[in-house]
Amino acid sequence: MLSYAKTVYCPNCGSLKIQPKNLDKNGEIFTFTIVRRGFGRMKDRAPYGLLTVLSADGCKILGILSNNSNLSELKIGKKVVLESIDEQSNPTYRFI
Ligand SMILES: [Zn+2]
Repeated sequence: MLSYAKTVYCPNCGSLKIQPKNLDKNGEIFTFTIVRRGFGRMKDRAPYGLLTVLSADGCKILGILSNNSNLSELKIGKKVVLESIDEQSNPTYRFI
């Protein structure tokens, strides 16, 4: 089973035998919403696209669309690629 973010045990069976793996950077939008009122560190960024991305290797990842200017292009199934990972926030994705 693949899981993101990193865990200390398997969320499926509870095993502590965890191995790190680099996830495929390519994926598609599984579902999304447009956040129009952000809070905390995202307060000034709204509106922005909040995505669940299904990575090419089968992991669902909560991410943010990196470019706020193309929110109207958001569509389930659209191809995206990982753009950056910030330990303080969610990974960002851009359209391919
Ligand atoms: Zn397991």
